[in-house]
Amino acid sequence: MGNKLFTEILENAPANEPERQFYFIEQIKALLDVKKGEGYEAKAMVTVIGCQMSAKDGEKLQGILQEAGYSITEKEEEADVILFTTCTVRENANQKLYGRIGQLKHLYQRNKDLIIGITGCMMQEKDEVETIQRKYPYVHLIFGTHNIYKLAEYLLETMLSKEKKVELLEDSAEIVENLPSKRKYSFRAAVNISFGCNNFCTYCIVPYVRGREKSRDSQEILKECEALVADGVKEIMLLGQNVNSYGLDKKEECSFPELLAKIAKLPGLKRLRFMTPNPKDFSDELLQVMKENENICNHIHLPLQSGSTAILKRMNRHYSKESYMALVKKIREVLPDVSLTTDIIVGFPGETEEDFQDTMEVVAYSKFDSAFTFQYSKRTGTPAAKWEAVPEDVVKERFQRLLEHIRLHSEEREGRDLGKVMEVLVEEKDKESENMLTGRLSNNVLVHFEGGERLIGEIVPVRLDKSMGFYYYGSVL
Ligand code: SF4
Repeated sequence: MGNKLFTEILENAPANEPERQFYFIEQIKALLDVKKGEGYEAKAMVTVIGCQMSAKDGEKLQGILQEAGYSITEKEEEADVILFTTCTVRENANQKLYGRIGQLKHLYQRNKDLIIGITGCMMQEKDEVETIQRKYPYVHLIFGTHNIYKLAEYLLETMLSKEKKVELLEDSAEIVENLPSKRKYSFRAAVNISFGCNNFCTYCIVPYVRGREKSRDSQEILKECEALVADGVKEIMLLGQNVNSYGLDKKEECSFPELLAKIAKLPGLKRLRFMTPNPKDFSDELLQVMKENENICNHIHLPLQSGSTAILKRMNRHYSKESYMALVKKIREVLPDVSLTTDIIVGFPGETEEDFQDTMEVVAYSKFDSAFTFQYSKRTGTPAAKWEAVPEDVVKERFQRLLEHIRLHSEEREGRDLGKVMEVLVEEKDKESENMLTGRLSNNVLVHFEGGERLIGEIVPVRLDKSMGFYYYGSVL
């Protein structure tokens, strides 16, 4: 019966996107309206595991679910639909997902109508999908990164047929725009400018699971940003695996600095950030655009990964120790107040003490405001996974030395804005203390200060009274 109904619905579905998905959203809505009349509450939960891309996918899933008539809950025991969006960059993220879906078994046993679905990077890996199907038969919905936009179609089919739906695409030819998305914060939003990556760093799984790089149409990006500003968004973060190569896959498209400049000029946009630029193609033009537009935030996250030219070559990063340091010098000349952060991997296969010393030298030179440091861990499916590992005790010891070294050199830049009055975008209530709020400076540094909840989402002047290293205590003026 369900299958027959779905076949009928399918026959009338428009072929074009996004009209097709809006059609399925309406069908779910109609179905839920009937069930709601019988006391059904229609609640859904979306759990994000992983990076900012995954978080953005989570917002898209929530947007579609809400448009279809679901209300969002944080409690799995009251949800009728539970979706996970996953990340597979680190292998332990996979274990986290297995733990979570294992815990859902008892809920499914109590409620056989519960629909559990998983999407995201991890579902682009065949072995993981097989494991889920074998070990967690109560997961009904599995789809990958290229077809997230089809949630409504898959969900409706599962609701009506009660059968499993698994659809994984190797790549997608089109970027489907203008589907609903539900922002986590009313005042801050992330906007994808491109999907996938062409770089094939030898430790990274992203190009295999997210596919080749595809830039969105700049007009579509601008339209989305404009609508966000009109909706009260003060800060936009542009997202891409390598924002610097934006547009290179399309003949007529503008470059990243041109796109950034156009967005920065949108009336009413207070802050604009981007993530992540690759040092290999960071242009002078980009620095100029940052300098000329005050609302572009004073922060650059510039992943180093290693300071050794030999290791960078093995990593396939396409820059050297010298070119990275020259770039840092140039950045500091053009933007002297910029906050510079980075990512560093310690113990990449083949890393010698000499290579590690090169990393230490670049850290001392760059004086990062902060650094995300990782001990190299093998990521199955990447070229580096087959290479001989550096002994664990050596990696651990280097890692400790690096942490201390970073701390020492970042101290030189800490507290440099002490006593100044700076603009803070107020993000939330302080988790630690009553009557306190937490917000961020343009350079991404956190500030805690006393204030009422009504300030959340506002940009307010705050005097920075006390430096605590990575953050400040201040008072709102
Ligand atoms: S640039 Fe390298 S590290 Fe970043 S997503 Fe692409 S392959 Fe992975």
